[in-house]
Amino acid sequence: MERKLIAAGNWKMNTDYNEGRELAKAVVSGLQSSDALVVLGTPYTHLKNISVIIKDISTIKLAAQNCHQEESGAYTGEISAAMLQSCGVDFVILGHSERREYFGEADELIAKKIDIVLKYGMQPIYCCGEKLEVREAGKHEELVGEQVKTALFHLTKEQMGQVVIAYEPVWAIGTGKTASPAQAQDMHHYIRSLIQEKFGSEVADATSILYGGSVKPDNAKEIFAQPDVDGGLVGGAALKAKDFLAIAGSF
Ligand code: PEP
Repeated sequence: MERKLIAAGNWKMNTDYNEGRELAKAVVSGLQSSDALVVLGTPYTHLKNISVIIKDISTIKLAAQNCHQEESGAYTGEISAAMLQSCGVDFVILGHSERREYFGEADELIAKKIDIVLKYGMQPIYCCGEKLEVREAGKHEELVGEQVKTALFHLTKEQMGQVVIAYEPVWAIGTGKTASPAQAQDMHHYIRSLIQEKFGSEVADATSILYGGSVKPDNAKEIFAQPDVDGGLVGGAALKAKDFLAIAGSF
């Protein structure tokens, strides 16, 4: 097991099919030989097409932004892990704060989604993070600790070895406010210490913990330089190939 440096883009509900295709192609053509693994988190409708665009490039992987927790069945409008896997998906973003806020997702449910994503051989990117009032009350470690325990502590060591964690303070997502490098480092260190207590040092050292929340080309370097920050989950800046590529080159 080896810790990876990752620049993951979360396109959210942006780009139509052709725009998505152009964005993926622009990332492919601008990529430098950087240490970072690049992950494109595209809308469902784009996945298969973009999997073909990136298929010969080992340093670009594909992510979905969600997945249903059941295998299959009468869940109109939902997308299963098997469907994603058959479209060439490598990673699935789970527990994003927007899913928690607008779709009522909580960690008990996210734990089930993690299980099914692992069962189908894909890697979860598990998002956690506190809201502003929690940080202001000084309870951010307590809350993130509970999130991590509820979503991940039922896993085996081998399963945990497949999980990427993204710490995304809710107050920094899409707001232009970034956690300071020290705030990010403190929380990442805390999360890694929890993983170490439960799963041991080998797993903890190999777990990639990404920071998310208004990562831009001008702040990425400083944040990624922190010892426990292994890259970023990037929203807004991932929609411009030039900005995303600059972030991917900031390690
Ligand atoms: C995100 O969506 O995960 C995110 C961090 O968004 P932004 O970079 O726009 O804050």
